[in-house]
Amino acid sequence: MSSARKPDWLKMRPPSGREFTDIRETLRERNLHTVCEEANCPNLGECWSGGAGTGDSEGGTATFMLMGDRCSRACNFCDVQTGGMEPLDPDEPANVAEAVAEIGLDYVVLTSVDRDDLPDQGAGHFAETIREIKDRHPGILVEVLIPDFQGEERLVRKIIDADPDVIAHNVETVERLQFPVRDRRAGYEQSLSVLEQVERESDIYTKTSIMLGHGEYDHEVYQTLADCRERGVDVVTLGQYLQPSRSHLDVRRYDHPDKYETWRQVAEEELDFLYCASGPMVRSSYKAGELFVDAILR
Ligand code: SF4
Ligand code: SF4
Repeated sequence: MSSARKPDWLKMRPPSGREFTDIRETLRERNLHTVCEEANCPNLGECWSGGAGTGDSEGGTATFMLMGDRCSRACNFCDVQTGGMEPLDPDEPANVAEAVAEIGLDYVVLTSVDRDDLPDQGAGHFAETIREIKDRHPGILVEVLIPDFQGEERLVRKIIDADPDVIAHNVETVERLQFPVRDRRAGYEQSLSVLEQVERESDIYTKTSIMLGHGEYDHEVYQTLADCRERGVDVVTLGQYLQPSRSHLDVRRYDHPDKYETWRQVAEEELDFLYCASGPMVRSSYKAGELFVDAILR
């Protein structure tokens, strides 16, 4: 089946301006990667340009991708390259912490490729980066979007022990479509268990994301939201899947922004999520700082 036609509300503005080029330069100098750039995120201009932060500064939100730009998995919606992973850069945790200061972020999101090839799947490196940032910038809020660590609780615990403010892990799609959407090593129950463990073992906020457009039915989306809430998940985001290239999964459907607004109401008012960011362009870390701070101050 070929992809549905992209509607007008998904046309993106290319990022520009001094702020954008300054940030990009800082990242290049330190050999750092962001999901914002790697995934060609449609919100880049909005997130990087500030107003998404917590303090008086103009710092915005950016999502750093740790442990390289190659993944041990091959999800069929994701543009990250598979295989050929490199050894970890031991300077990366400190480099990220310094870049966060230089850019002036006050809410940072860290994520990573999956590193099933490493003995601890990269959990220690991830935790070290959180600590480096927290040590150097007390008061900064750190959100981490973590892999499933193959459901190994001792590895998830390493992240919990580093004490970030939000731990996110994405279920990505409804139960029926986990495969073909995700790599076969991922799974609905495994992902829910990761989120449940964080809820059980800490007071850290939890968050998950669901992509729409893979051919899911409304009752399945509702069930996914309900399952996440039942495991205690605090925050959910919903956004439109966009096909990164013709070799990725086709888009089966584009939902109108009104539909996303309905899901937001269902999530917040019926299922009692702390907040739900929902819209065609919304991504897991969309305005993460701004929305998170607004929600906890509510
Ligand atoms: Fe970066 Fe996330 Fe914002 Fe996209 S939504 S620009 S990945 S922080
Ligand atoms: Fe992409 Fe899947 Fe790897 Fe995550 S685990 S970076 S979604 S291929």
